[in-house]
Amino acid sequence: MKDMHRKRILVTGGAGFLGSHLCERLLADGHDVLCVDNFYTGTKDNIAALLQHPRFELMRHDVTFPLYVEVDEIFNLACPASPIHYQRDPVQTTKTSVHGAINMLGLAKRVKACIFQASTSEVYGDPRMHPQQEGYWGHVNPIGTRSCYDEGKRCAETLFMDYHRQHGVEIKIARIFNTYGPRMHRADGRVVSNFVMQALAGEPITLYGTGAQTRAFCFVDDMIEAFVRLMNSEASFTGPVNLGNPQEISIARIAQRIIDLTGSQSQLVFRPLPSDDPVQRCPDISAAKAALNWQPSTELDAGLQRTIDYFRARYFSGDASEAE
Ligand code: NAD
Ligand code: UDP
Ligand code: UDP
Repeated sequence: MKDMHRKRILVTGGAGFLGSHLCERLLADGHDVLCVDNFYTGTKDNIAALLQHPRFELMRHDVTFPLYVEVDEIFNLACPASPIHYQRDPVQTTKTSVHGAINMLGLAKRVKACIFQASTSEVYGDPRMHPQQEGYWGHVNPIGTRSCYDEGKRCAETLFMDYHRQHGVEIKIARIFNTYGPRMHRADGRVVSNFVMQALAGEPITLYGTGAQTRAFCFVDDMIEAFVRLMNSEASFTGPVNLGNPQEISIARIAQRIIDLTGSQSQLVFRPLPSDDPVQRCPDISAAKAALNWQPSTELDAGLQRTIDYFRARYFSGDASEAE
C-alpha cells in the first residue's frame, strides 16, 4: 500500500547548489526524488552521494522542453543564478525561466501537483523602498544586461499566478535573498565563494569599494527548511514570500570573519565598486515568520565554517578533482 506521507517529488535544477541540498533533505524525509537537470551550472559531483540511493533518480533534461512524468509535487529551481552564469547565454536564461515555467506549470496542471517556484529578490530590481516587502512592485530595467534574469523571473511569477487563478494550480512562490553554503560554485563571482577561495589559496582578498556596503546572508540549511515549510503550508498561501536572513553585515566584516576562521595570511586589496552595486540589501521576512513560523537560526560563523570546510576538502585537499 502507498504510504500517504511518501511523495514522488520532482526537483528541477536538482544538481545545483540549492537543488542538491533540497534533494538530500527530501530523501531524508522519506520521499522519492526525481532530479531533473541539464548540468548547465550544476554538476554530478553535487549529487554524487545520492546516486546510489534507492529513492533517488536522475534525469538529464532541459526544462525549456516538455516533460511528461508522474509526480505529486514539483520544486522548480532550474535557472543559472549568478550574473557570470546567467549573462553567458542571456536568451537561454529567459527561455529557462519562461518556457521552463510554462512546461512545469503544464505538468503541474495535468498531474494536479503543487508547484514551488524559486523566484528571487532581483524581482525588486534596483529598489526605491528599503527593506522590500512583498507588496512592493519593484524598479526593474527591462532592457539591461541583468534583465534576462530579473524579467524572466518576473514573467515566471506572472505565469504562476495566472495558472493558479485560471487553472486552479496550487502554487508557492519564494523570493530568495543571498544564500551561501557548501556546493556554491567556486567561480561564480559571489562574495562568499570569492573570499573563501582567496583566503584558502593565500591570495589577496578583493574588497570592492570600501567594504562598508552591507548584505544579509542566509545559510543553505535554513533556506531549505523554509522551502519545505512553504511547500507544506496552507493551500491558500501562495506567496510570493521573501526568504532570507535579515542579519545585516558589512562586506569588510565578512572578509575579516573569513580570514579569522581560515587562519589565512591573505591581505585585503581594494578594487573599484561595480557601477550598480547596492549600498544595502536586507530582506523583510515578517510574512515568512507569520505564515511559516520560520526564521534562520544558523549563526554566521557556524555557516561560514561549514562552507570553508567544504571548499577546503573539495579544492585544497591532495586529491581534489579539477572537474567542472
Ligand atoms: P545553481 O546554478 O547552482 O542551480 C541551478 C541549476 O539549474 C543547475 O544545476 C543548472 O544546471 C540547472 N539548470 C539551468 N538551466 C536549466 C535548464 N534549462 N533545464 C534544466 N536545468 C537547468 O543555482 P542555485 O543558487 O542553486 O539557484 C537555484 C534557484 O534558486 C535558481 O532558480 C535561482 O534563480 C534561485 N535563487 C538562488 C539564490 C541564491 O542565493 N543561491 C538567490 C535567489 C534565487
Ligand atoms: N507540458 C509538459 N508536461 C505535461 C503537460 C504539459 O511539459 O505533463 C507542457 C506542454 O508541452 C505545454 C505546456 O506544458 O507546452 C503548457 O501546458 P498547458 O496544458 O498549460 O498548455 P497547452 O498544452 O494547452 O499549450
Ligand atoms: N564583493 C566584493 N568582493 C568580491 C565579490 C563581491 O567586495 O570579490 C562585494 C560586491 O561588490 C557586493 C557584495 O560583495 O557589494 C555582495 O556581492 P555578491 O555578488 O555576492 O551579491 P549581490 O551584490 O548580488 O548581493
